[in-house]
Amino acid sequence: MNKYQVLVVEDDMPISNLITTTLNSHGYRYITAGTGEGAVMEAASHNPDMILLDLGLPDIDGVEVIRRIRSWSNVPIIVISARSEDSDKIDALDAGADDYLTKPFSVEELLARLRVVQRRLALMQSTARSSEYENGQLRIDYANRCAYLAGEELRLTPMEYKLLCLLAQNTGKVLTHKYILQNVWGSSLETDVGSLRVFMATLRKKLEKLPDSPQYIQTHIGVGYRMMKIE
Ligand code: CA
Repeated sequence: MNKYQVLVVEDDMPISNLITTTLNSHGYRYITAGTGEGAVMEAASHNPDMILLDLGLPDIDGVEVIRRIRSWSNVPIIVISARSEDSDKIDALDAGADDYLTKPFSVEELLARLRVVQRRLALMQSTARSSEYENGQLRIDYANRCAYLAGEELRLTPMEYKLLCLLAQNTGKVLTHKYILQNVWGSSLETDVGSLRVFMATLRKKLEKLPDSPQYIQTHIGVGYRMMKIE
């Protein structure tokens, strides 16, 4: 039996039913809401382990739902959006969502996203007060500002190290270009996305065995990057 409880926020009943049926048959517990106000209420009263949130809701906007929930909770939130809501998806990530699913999605995709969140929850619990980060063959020693791959120290520039730490501290979560630029460079100009790409390419050359099929840092085209938890 899976111990996780998922709050499903979706006003489209066929989609809501597809999600809850999938959750049920894979051992998740769930509760549902069909409105934004309902979602905020259910999140507050049940304290779910993760939230699946449709962005297009009949009352308040999904991004506003995220802002309200984020004012008291770090619960992982996976946003569900239609293709036409692409910019909303980025706003949702900037407001604190962890990940996104684009409609139409398959049951396999849904389950895969839930597993990413579960690994993130497990990692957050195990490293909550640790000064070290471990993921696959990557190890970061925060106290000494060093990173190692398979025991060998990575020769990182200060910016590459900062970038790696930001991604590591948010393992499992998709970070937008804007978020990364603000947190590493203190700026979020559109033109800086190009320099972020350059830094990412040099970081990957050092971190990834095959920089063209990265294992650690995943690219989300037009959106941002995510550090994956290696199993
Ligand atoms: Ca909807």
